[in-house]
Amino acid sequence: MELKNLTIKKFHEGLINKQFSAFEITKAFFDYIEKKDSEIDAYLRLTKDLAFSQANKTDVDLANGKELDILAGIPLAIKDNILIEDEPTTAASKILANYRASYDATAIKKLKSFGAVFLGKTNMDEFAMGASTENSGFKTTKNPYDLERVAGGSSGGSAAAVAADMALAALGSDTGGSIRQPASFCGVVGLKPTYGAVSRHGLIAMASSLDQIGPIAKTVEDAAILFQAIAGKDEFDATSVNYEYKLGNAKKLKIGLPKEYFSGGLDKETEKGIEEAIQNLKSLELEFKEISLPHTKYAVSVYYIIMPAEVSANLARYDGIRYSQMSNVSGQMSLRDIYFKTRGSGFGDEVKRRAILGTFVLSHGYYDAYYTKAQKVRQLIKKDFDEAFKEVDVILTPVYPTPAFKIGEKVDDPLKMYLGDIFTIPANLAGLPAISIPVKSKKSEVKGELPVGFQLIGKPFHEADILGIGQRYEQLIYA
Ligand code: GLN
Repeated sequence: MELKNLTIKKFHEGLINKQFSAFEITKAFFDYIEKKDSEIDAYLRLTKDLAFSQANKTDVDLANGKELDILAGIPLAIKDNILIEDEPTTAASKILANYRASYDATAIKKLKSFGAVFLGKTNMDEFAMGASTENSGFKTTKNPYDLERVAGGSSGGSAAAVAADMALAALGSDTGGSIRQPASFCGVVGLKPTYGAVSRHGLIAMASSLDQIGPIAKTVEDAAILFQAIAGKDEFDATSVNYEYKLGNAKKLKIGLPKEYFSGGLDKETEKGIEEAIQNLKSLELEFKEISLPHTKYAVSVYYIIMPAEVSANLARYDGIRYSQMSNVSGQMSLRDIYFKTRGSGFGDEVKRRAILGTFVLSHGYYDAYYTKAQKVRQLIKKDFDEAFKEVDVILTPVYPTPAFKIGEKVDDPLKMYLGDIFTIPANLAGLPAISIPVKSKKSEVKGELPVGFQLIGKPFHEADILGIGQRYEQLIYA
């Protein structure tokens, strides 16, 4: 069985028809990762003992005649800001280099209960702050299509692992585009669920009003299966919602094209890709309509005020006392020295920049001018979507202004890096579900060409609409 041809359904069929065991496939993935990941750097750590014991359990269940869940034995890669009990978890930060998770994130607990297998923890930008994994405290993940380019970020490790066939699918997290943008750069599917659809319990918090865990997969169908498995109300996350996802009928939906997203600034390849996606969708008899989201131009500014404000609050807990100690700190030092040493050497530049910016916008005298104002504009951005969704069911946009950029191209210019997030941030600010889907099927990818994704944004808790259109799109281009 070729690893690269596996989807969740194909794996499941192969498993129950005894074409292979879960153990064999897990081992095959590890053998391949050992060969391939030295050039990609998608994984921070492999979780072999855990993976083999999970795979064995599936094989024993099958041998005992138990009915297996569709996810039983499925080898997954997990972003390193999602807790797996007893496994080291760093969020790619040196400050957590010695931390081991004391419990399972709810998404992990659910996947475990279905029998999924976790191959390892993937690289990311430190605490999910970034768009290229270049802010990782440990290494930069390379794009499987061109090793001189970034895999995107912050979930670049998860996207690259799936794209390079080093995992069947993965979990990432998305605060301002971190699932969708790397998915687009790596030619895979990435879904950011509606805010509240998936529990954030056990996700290391970046900006709590924006963060969501979601799947990264080779196909829309796989993303849908994983989403269904992790969605739902959780007593440990008060913002989670009781929600049963069912795949809808995507036939009669109307798609909006927001003119603000197409008014210049798009790279040629991306523009061509988005045009191709629209033509393909038109051939599915989906209707299009131009719409307006007039406050789009404020989205980046609003995000880069609200997000750092929440970051500064969430990162206050890393004081060198809780969550493990760094090696340059000892119990003999004064508390003040411990704080300074820990935070000074444990956090990278980007994390410090955001913690400082966030503290500033929340400080007395500036709170109203920046933070309160940004919250008001956030409401206007949300209202734009409410209005648009009176006319259309789904909104189509680019994911990123360009295909994957070169490693080093933007890392010294934070503003340049931030501006690229323009198309993904609005869905987080408004709490909407959004998916990135590759324009072309992997097999039709011309050598040397970089993948481009298009984005579908849906109404709150209407994942079925964007996944439904996505599945029809996929059937068309894989036909
Ligand atoms: N690129 C965005 C940022 O740097 C998004 C990050 C994310 O979604 N975690 O904040």
